Amino acid sequence: MNSRFIFPSLLLFLSALTGCYSLQTPDMQAYEAYSYHPDRSQTAAKGSLKVTFLGTSSLYFNDGETGILVDGFFTRPGNLPQLFFGQIASDHQIVRQTLERLGITHLDAIPVFHSHYDHAMDAPEIARLTGAQILGSQSTTMIGRGAGLPEHQLKVVELGREYHFGKFMLRFTESKHVPLPGLIESTGMMGEIAEPLHQPASLYAYAEGMTYAIEVSHPEGTSMLHSGAFLPGEFQGRKIDTLFLCTPGLPKLNEAEREQFYQEIIRAPGVKRVVPVHWDDFTRPLTEPLVPLPRFAEDLDAAMSFLINKSQQQPGFEIRFFPTWEAVPLTSP
Ligand SMILES: [Zn+2]
Repeated sequence: MNSRFIFPSLLLFLSALTGCYSLQTPDMQAYEAYSYHPDRSQTAAKGSLKVTFLGTSSLYFNDGETGILVDGFFTRPGNLPQLFFGQIASDHQIVRQTLERLGITHLDAIPVFHSHYDHAMDAPEIARLTGAQILGSQSTTMIGRGAGLPEHQLKVVELGREYHFGKFMLRFTESKHVPLPGLIESTGMMGEIAEPLHQPASLYAYAEGMTYAIEVSHPEGTSMLHSGAFLPGEFQGRKIDTLFLCTPGLPKLNEAEREQFYQEIIRAPGVKRVVPVHWDDFTRPLTEPLVPLPRFAEDLDAAMSFLINKSQQQPGFEIRFFPTWEAVPLTSP
């Protein structure tokens, strides 16, 4: 039996045996009311801004002229012993097949959230195939450099500066990574990548670098990708229509921090739609339906209960899970 199946099967067996809440995975049926359903008139609109959700925080923005791919993590290694104790690399066949299925032959930019493997590992191969420029931290450029990408396709971003691609504007704000268990932090993977990283490499060699909040602005709407952990005051004065929010962060904030998060990152910027991202088990292939992470890794239910309560108490924003592989119009709800 492939180890990709042994570990989940073991978890399933243990959870059945113990009934242990933390080993189980949340039931996505419970959030059917918060799933996106296409509105035909919007889908028919030509040349308008669309986004395709591709698991984790991979998001493909396209307005018919310009293509921006946040992260683009498609390999999703699933052999767990190899993932944790061996070496991993971008699977060029999966990358090529994914781009083909999406109809992507050219991209303008690949903004990278931070340099962990589940965000940055495939960026160099995607850039090589599409001609895109990778934008991110010094550590992210080390992953590109190690893969042999030419310097003109690698940009270390300046915080707060505007980067224009067609009608899009990208802006990076210093933010914070969700806290990880101490054991993982002790591997050095919350540090920097100081030298060109040659793949295959240990998962722990893909060190964080800097975690950003990434703004993807367009005349038709402003989006922001956010980790869920935050630095107070990071969004002052910004307006955001759609917040792509990594849900693993919210349950790790205490009550006062969560309230501050809501006030600063959702209410003050005038967010109209929250799209949960990075809730999926990213050891499973993107070609299969997404399944939430088990609760010990992420408590999606806790994050959702907070967001649902807020949206009911103080209406003004909707919560929508976006489907994978489907271009969703990003017009205001
Ligand atoms: Zn990370």
